[in-house]
Amino acid sequence: MPRANADRTVRTTRNVRLALATLHEQLDVCRACPKMIGPVVHGPPVQSDVILIGQAPGPREGSFGRPFAWTAGRTMFRWFEEELGIDEARFRSTVYMAAVARCFPGKAPGGGDRKPDAHEIAQCESWLSREAAILRPKLVIAVGTLAIERVLAEKLPLANVVGTVRKARWQDLDVDVVALPHPSGASTWHKMEPGKTLLAKALRTLARHPAMRAL
Ligand code: SF4
Repeated sequence: MPRANADRTVRTTRNVRLALATLHEQLDVCRACPKMIGPVVHGPPVQSDVILIGQAPGPREGSFGRPFAWTAGRTMFRWFEEELGIDEARFRSTVYMAAVARCFPGKAPGGGDRKPDAHEIAQCESWLSREAAILRPKLVIAVGTLAIERVLAEKLPLANVVGTVRKARWQDLDVDVVALPHPSGASTWHKMEPGKTLLAKALRTLARHPAMRAL
């Protein structure tokens, strides 16, 4: 059988879901980072050409057992509902939701959630690599500066990247990247100009992307 056909046969929806479910079982018991606070948080094993990558769960997500389950999520899902016409339930069931780190990092000394450190990011990257290999997504939605930096492999001001579609080589895949600011209440970037205008542009860009339209 030609290689392409073999790959297509192997990558059935059922196989992808099974592979993700198996990975989730292993991810659920990961305790690789001593400073991280469990439980591990991830979305369901959704087969999708679109993957959303956030920073890390906050203090409430663990009790709900899903990413973006609290105030930042409410803001982000309102953006999607208003600009993309996709409500939270549909988004969660059609887009694979991942993050740079899957456990709550705890609070930073100055307030707000601590950013995962380099060791934690590297540890958790192995899960992301495996998810990317299973899903082979076409579009990455990177939410917040840390996720944007990790996916694009460079540090860019939000104003230079939000509102654009970037081509990137990520996890050995050629992907389009749409960057969004973090919807956390601690960030005011998206509430002031030029953030407001750029966020609206980014959401319009997302709504028009073929991988989103195909969901
Ligand atoms: S942050 Fe990631 S690598 Fe670290 S313990 Fe949690 S799941 Fe494991």
